[in-house]
Amino acid sequence: MTTNDDPRPAPPSEPLDKEALRAKYLAERDKRLRPDGNDQYVEVTGVFAEYVEDPYVDPEPREPVHDEVTVAFVGGGFAGLVTGARLKQAGIDDVRIIEKGGDVGGTWYWNRYPGAQCDTAALIYLPLLEETGHMPTEKYTHAPEILDHCRRIAEHFDLYDQALLSTEVTDLTWEEATSRWVIRTNRGDEVRARFVALGTGPLHRPKLPGIPGIETYAGHSFHTSRWDYDYTGGDPAGAPMEGLADKRVGIIGTGATSVQCIPHLARSCGELYVFQRTPSSIDVRANHPVDPEWFATLEPGWQQEWLTNFTTLQTGGFADEDLVKDGWTDIAQRIRDRVVAEADFTPEGFLRAYHDSDDEKMAEIRARVDAIVDDPATAEALKPWYRQLCKRPCFHDEYLDAYNQPGTHLVDTDGRGVERIDETGVWVDGTHYELDCLIYASGFEVGTDHVRRTGFDLTGRDGVTLSERWADGMQSLHGIHVHGFPNAFFVHPAQGANLISNVPHNLTESATTIAAVVRHALDEDVDEVEASAEAEAAWVAKLEAGGRRFGGQPDCTPGYYNNEGQSAGRRGVLNSAAYPEGPLAFFAYIDEWRRTGDFEGLEMRTRDRA
Ligand code: NDP
Repeated sequence: MTTNDDPRPAPPSEPLDKEALRAKYLAERDKRLRPDGNDQYVEVTGVFAEYVEDPYVDPEPREPVHDEVTVAFVGGGFAGLVTGARLKQAGIDDVRIIEKGGDVGGTWYWNRYPGAQCDTAALIYLPLLEETGHMPTEKYTHAPEILDHCRRIAEHFDLYDQALLSTEVTDLTWEEATSRWVIRTNRGDEVRARFVALGTGPLHRPKLPGIPGIETYAGHSFHTSRWDYDYTGGDPAGAPMEGLADKRVGIIGTGATSVQCIPHLARSCGELYVFQRTPSSIDVRANHPVDPEWFATLEPGWQQEWLTNFTTLQTGGFADEDLVKDGWTDIAQRIRDRVVAEADFTPEGFLRAYHDSDDEKMAEIRARVDAIVDDPATAEALKPWYRQLCKRPCFHDEYLDAYNQPGTHLVDTDGRGVERIDETGVWVDGTHYELDCLIYASGFEVGTDHVRRTGFDLTGRDGVTLSERWADGMQSLHGIHVHGFPNAFFVHPAQGANLISNVPHNLTESATTIAAVVRHALDEDVDEVEASAEAEAAWVAKLEAGGRRFGGQPDCTPGYYNNEGQSAGRRGVLNSAAYPEGPLAFFAYIDEWRRTGDFEGLEMRTRDRA
């Protein structure tokens, strides 16, 4: 079997009355809009700080480190790993990852809940497969294999040797006199670095629902990104959670995380209560093992080919074959094929094709709920009434069936959320649900301040902090370089190729760019590399004029895709801006920019050595 068969759901059974559908979508959104937006959530500080403690590793005591490195990277997730790898490949050996978790892995270090899995096909999602010689075992790999792959990259490229793990950066300051960054940490370290790079991840700081009384709950509780296997039993590979056999367990939230762990909870818990505010859209998963014989036939260079193929199709382009063939390329190709069939290439034509394809897809998704869920009232409550890309689309073949198990109860709150929490449980609509354990699948901070999410600020040239520099929104050249912050690089999709679901593709491209710039600076004896004010302003103006950005629309049901339904103004636009001509064009542009060796837009300065 190859990675190419992904059966789609049955055709829709519901009639498509478009006007009624739009009205229903808006009514469902309106129910959920709240004036407090992002402020509805509780920050994991103070009495809630225990929700972010590392449950997996007890930090080993060690002496503070005082030394200097060529490149320091803050964050040991995919961004740090691929940048470390590209630097090593460029002959830069002196690379230090600083990571607050007890190991590398980032998201995959923290998220070990049962059933955790990536929705993007492993052959494109797992970076550096050819370099490390790894064959993913299944089309959509589970979390333990992804974490192992992170460790494989760190080992393969000797990134552990200098790494500081279980170490949180508290301060990063540019020292003008020496052209060095000074990095301080919560372990008393003071590391000086010629270059720093940051890959702190967009979704890494857990948040809790701001439900009245949440602080009073006296039973056991934890956030899904800090799964307490000591309490539940079982393991990240999905072994039965025997500790829950006689327990009444509640879970708040039904996003992508919850969708994956609920089938496991349903199998293990005495009674499971799922508290739902908004149902996710659940499309077909169709996972299967990767056939080693087929894998062995892939020619060198295959991963880049697959990455390009996926990005081409996901962004509405044409290719002879859909190599990945998954839910993401399906969405895009439906729209594209409709536009072509109707031969209407106007903006209105695209919009109509988008809406028609989406209506059809969402009708399929709702029909699937009816086909799987036995109880009609439960099925009705599990149907999503919004466009598929308004919220993170989910793909699962066991989630809906979990509601057919007698011990699993959906408590739908009709868009209002949980009413209140008390010492012994949860209240919805005047009914009290007594619980032994309450699990928060309430997601991560997205729209909040950069410093609040990372826990530190950068102080650049002339004492200006990054928060000050970005007070009105992100400013950068290519999303990577920021004027006033010499020798610092930012690794994330924003202000680059920001519109693909396969984020590691963005990260690997940025890593290649950073390695090229650092190599050049070292070869040419350059002390300071900095985006010029003009180049940065021109880049930001180009992106702003282009109007492409990641994010849900204001008419979408609220969530982190659309800043909880509130306008984030120009700041929001800049923070999520994307290259106007699309991701493939960005990759081609940046490849050319690197190859010329001119690094146009960067100022390179050498200090007076006299
Ligand atoms: P989300 O932010 O997607 O979900 C949070 C959930 O909590 C939502 O269902 C939300 O409801 C609910 N909620 C919040 N407040 C309340 C309340 N007061 N009462 C009841 N419910 C409430 O977080 P996830 O951890 O699920 O996912 C985060 C992201 O991580 C995903 O979008 C995805 O990008 C990534 N991810 C990817 C995976 C993959 O590849 N398969 C797996 C897991 C995560 P509402 O929708 O109404 O706001």
